[in-house]
This record gives sequence, structure tokens and C-alpha cells, in this order.
Amino acid sequence: MSCGDVVVIGGGQAGLATAHTAAARGLRPLVLDAAAGPGGSWPSYYDSLTLFSPARFSSLPGFPFPGDPERYPLRDEVVDYLAAYTARVEAEVRFAGRVDDVRAEDGGFSVTTADGTVVRSRAVVAATGGFGAPYRPSLPGLDDFTGTVLHSAQYRNAAPFAGSRIVVVGGGNSAVQIAVELAAVAKVSLTTRGPLRFQPQHFLGRDFHWWLNRTGLDTSRLGPRLIKGSVSVIDDGKYRAAIRAGRPDHRPLFTRLDGNRVVWADGTSEPVDVVVLATGYRPHLPFLAGTGALGPDGAPLHDGGVSTAVPGLGFVGLERQRSFASATLRGVGRDAAYVLNSVLRHPARHATAR
Ligand code: FAD
Repeated sequence: MSCGDVVVIGGGQAGLATAHTAAARGLRPLVLDAAAGPGGSWPSYYDSLTLFSPARFSSLPGFPFPGDPERYPLRDEVVDYLAAYTARVEAEVRFAGRVDDVRAEDGGFSVTTADGTVVRSRAVVAATGGFGAPYRPSLPGLDDFTGTVLHSAQYRNAAPFAGSRIVVVGGGNSAVQIAVELAAVAKVSLTTRGPLRFQPQHFLGRDFHWWLNRTGLDTSRLGPRLIKGSVSVIDDGKYRAAIRAGRPDHRPLFTRLDGNRVVWADGTSEPVDVVVLATGYRPHLPFLAGTGALGPDGAPLHDGGVSTAVPGLGFVGLERQRSFASATLRGVGRDAAYVLNSVLRHPARHATAR
């Protein structure tokens, strides 16, 4: 049993940025992470993953991403960067420390980990990302499909799928990148409810993120309010060219799955081996179930990452929680500062060890 100023649940980029920001204010953050080691969910992302933002726009607070600032870092470079950040951050980071329960009591919080350890704190910031809660849409026939159904969270590389007939569901960056990669070894259809939207990686010789930064749109709270709906696929031309060439082909969402077959919107049907759901993630906060901090769908009740239900509780790393950049390497630091400002205003009556 121990006590701290702020317990940060999750030691990925969002949790680390929060811990760094808290330490810079003279606080004693304690980071609890379920994983065996550093890197958040990055070590589990697919092998070929390359950042969509240049290194210049991929840093957490206080420690620039190393190397050529104009390059687009690979997944394992991000893992290394987060491991180095973990080693430098002035906070205790405990791995293999899955949080099972949080209780708001006595003006503070009791945080219980899987091994029964109880930590008391004045404030709690949940930074557990969405990788633990892959979103599986309700699609006709999906539950009874006799082929393989895979979420993009489980996809690592194309090798096991050579020669297969594959349908990829989704129109975001992951869907398009995975579909194009699979199409090199398999027959692939990319299927979406609406049209695919592309965002050129460069405009007037500058990376798209340079413009987001320069115009202020990246960090403005107005951004998500002005532009709702799904994000565009960031593309240097490679993905559009692949889809134009039919590798993969792009089709409207199928009408239904039937046994091992897909029934397309034009009435034709064919056997399919694998359906890949590249349909995103939802916040993963089961440990808050007893606090009243979540809505009926399990999503946090919050304003800009500050809980509107439980004083002293905050969130960092939620999709668009304050801006387009909220759930990115470049955006979590700014949100962490905002959230800490609010949750630490919450007075603790008994922040003592039990
Ligand atoms: P995570 O990385 O998921 O870390 C959450 C941590 O919480 C994990 O370490 C986990 O072990 C821990 N945890 C979970 N539950 C518990 C619990 N109960 N108790 C204790 N610990 C717990 N962003 C960019 O900036 N640039 C990109 O190019 C980019 N590409 C992406 C590509 C893909 C395929 C995906 C999925 C995301 C991408 N993102 C990108 C978005 C975002 O940066 C990543 O999703 C990032 O991993 C989110 O960091 P996080 O810290 O919020 O969550």
C-alpha cells in the first residue's frame, strides 16, 4: 500500500506524457502499466507500420524524437523512443501492474492492481488507449461466417495470407495500408460504407502536418467540431495508385456474409477465406466501471478529458478529446497539461497510505 499525488493508469505515450508533465510540476506521479515492458501498444502494431507524421511532429514533451526530423519513423523506432522516454521520465513506472479497480473515496482514489496492491492518490489519469477494445461492427452474417474473421489489431504481416481471398472492412489509414499490403500476395477487396477520402501527405512541398501546425488546426478545439466523421487516408500517392490498379479493388460494403460467402451490393456472391475488420478501437476502461465515470456504452463522460462525473479523474489519449492531435504522439503532451490542471484542482482530504 502506498500513496501518491497522481496515479497514471497506462504507460504508453499518453501515460508517459502525463507523468512527465506531472513531474515537471513537482508532483510524484506513479505509472501503472499492465504490460511486461515499455512501448504501450506499439510493439503489437503491424510490422510494416510507418508513422504518418514526420519525426519533427512525433515527439512527446521534453524529449525530441531522435534522428532526421523529416523522416517518417518505423514502428520499432517508436518502441525504442518510448523505451528511452520511460527510462528518462521522473516517475516510478511499474510494469505488470494491471489496474483492475478504481474507487473514488475519502476525497481521493483507491487504485487496486491485479496482484491486490492498493494505491491511494489524490488524482487519477486513465491513459489506457483503445487497443484492448477493438471495435467489431455488427454486420449481417458476420457472427456465422465460417471463414476467418480477424481484427486489424491481430494483423502483423501478409505472409500467412498468401493466395487467400480477403475482404478488408474499413476506410481509414490502417484499412488501406493493410489492404494494399495484403494485395501483394492475395486477392483483396477493400470495402467501405461511403467513399474513400484521401489527404495528400504533401502540399506545396511541405508535409501535411506542417500545415496543420502552422494554421493551428492541429491543436484547436474547433477542429473536431468543424470536421466531423471519419479521418482521411494520408497518402503520398501510393495507396490511390494501388486502388486504381485494382490491388486491392474498392467496393461498396457487402450486403451480407453467408456461410463462407460474401454477397456484394450488386447481388453477386463468392467464397471468401478471411474478413479483416479494420474498424478501429474504443476506449478501454473496465476498471472504472464502479465509479460512475462511464456512460452506458462504456465511454467516459468527460469534457476535454476531464471527467464530468468524478472530480479528480481525467483521461489522456482519447480520440479527438480536445483536438485532431489528441490521440497522437504529438498531441498527448498538450492534453496532459490541460487535464492535470483540472484534476489537481480537486482537493484531497485523505491522500494517505492505508
Ligand atoms: P497505448 O499505446 O494503447 O498504451 C496504453 C497502455 O495502457 C498499454 O501499455 C497497456 O498495457 C496499458 N493498459 C491497458 N489497460 C490497462 C490496465 N487496466 N491497467 C494498467 N495498464 C493498462 N499516432 C501517431 O502519432 N502517429 C502515427 O503514425 C500513428 N499510427 C497509428 C497506427 C495504428 C495502426 C494505430 C492503431 C494507431 C496509430 N497512432 C498513431 C495512434 C496512437 O499514437 C497509438 O494508438 C498509440 O499507441 C496510443 O497511445 P496510448 O498511450 O494512448 O495507448
